[in-house]
Amino acid sequence: MKYNNSTNAFVESQELIPGGVNSPVRAFKSVNCNPVFFDYGKGSKVYDIDGNEYIDCISSWGPLIFGHADKKTQSKINEYLKRGTTYGAPTVIESEMAKKIIEFVPSIEKVRMVNSGTEATMSAIRLARGYTSKNLILKFAGNYHGHGDSFLIKAGSGAMTLGLPDSPGVTRNTAKDTVIAEFNSIESVSEQFKKNPDKIAAVIIEPVAGNMGLVESKKDFLVELRNLCDQNNSLLIFDEVMSGFRLSKGGAQELYNVIPDITTLGKIIGGGLPVGAYGGKSDIMDYLAPNGPVYQAGTLSGNPLAMSAGLSVLNRLDEKLFDRLELISKKIHEGFLQNINETGTNAIINRAGSMMTMFFTNNKKVENYNDAITCDLKKYAKYFKSMLDQGIYLPPSQFECMFISSVYSENDIKKIIQSNKKSLVSIL
Ligand SMILES: *Cc1c(COP(=O)(O)O)cnc(C)c1O
Repeated sequence: MKYNNSTNAFVESQELIPGGVNSPVRAFKSVNCNPVFFDYGKGSKVYDIDGNEYIDCISSWGPLIFGHADKKTQSKINEYLKRGTTYGAPTVIESEMAKKIIEFVPSIEKVRMVNSGTEATMSAIRLARGYTSKNLILKFAGNYHGHGDSFLIKAGSGAMTLGLPDSPGVTRNTAKDTVIAEFNSIESVSEQFKKNPDKIAAVIIEPVAGNMGLVESKKDFLVELRNLCDQNNSLLIFDEVMSGFRLSKGGAQELYNVIPDITTLGKIIGGGLPVGAYGGKSDIMDYLAPNGPVYQAGTLSGNPLAMSAGLSVLNRLDEKLFDRLELISKKIHEGFLQNINETGTNAIINRAGSMMTMFFTNNKKVENYNDAITCDLKKYAKYFKSMLDQGIYLPPSQFECMFISSVYSENDIKKIIQSNKKSLVSIL
């Protein structure tokens, strides 16, 4: 494949935009090649500015569950676009959106809309701190909750591959209000509760983590986490920005049947436009202004254009869709496993529904951050490039997941599996 136009576009963008990109992982740094610039998408495919075609295995990091340029989403957006995009004042569609979220997500009785996942998590911990009158936040190594200062400590994906475990610019005073525990280790959590008695406002977790590659929580772990939070009067926050509406209508909390106090949402909820949300029990959410003392606001929050895109997607989430996603993802998973066996590659696969990561590691399991960092990043980089050259667009980092969409054809699935085999052979 030729990438001349993308290469030139990257030369120019680097003079204008820091690193040439508006979000670090897009620069392809950890896979040692230049990024591809996209022109348009249609269904399961994306097309770059050199005219190359790819099967998209990222779905814009999750949102595009119905693929690119989805007709139904577009027509809903158009309907609202014609009437004006924002009023900075309430609209009825915001209540429609809230109703849908409350219907789907078990823990949510009231919900506030924001414009990104980062905003949702930042607001959620402010609310938790205000509500509990405590200062500390406990997070897990390798979990990512957006780029808020309090979260840029052992933060997974971007920071992990770039070797920036802590970002300069985050003050020491902010960093010391975040304590870290090990994912899937309840002992490490109770240790922090013992060390910091009556100080931890909230525990925040990706119940199915997607930012150190795909790593699921163990069921017992989440149940015990819920108990520990109750015993210590700390709130439990599930960051379901990735898992929400993707693993099931109600997210990971529905699958695990563990109910958090606050849930943060993003990605799919915007149907491809910038949206985030956080919600929970009414008495906690009513602690927000204008009812309560904790302040949080947004000029474009809940704007009807974004709500229309998101609602169009949420309204079409049903059992049939999740069955289809499972079927497609299972085929790809099984195909990859067979390829791993046949080529004798040292790799394992973690998958939860339509989120999946192939880890190049000698480990038998990847259950936490320390397991994830045993991966052979050079091998992943070669694998990524080889797949790209065959027209398969994978996450440009070992520590991200594939996000499979519901519009893959049988041919797409076949091509993904065959290309995977060729790539594994080529990097042996
Ligand atoms: C993507 C992500 C975020 C941040 O959302 P943005 O919309 O990128 O700000 C937060 N938490 C999780 C779990 C995410 O995957």
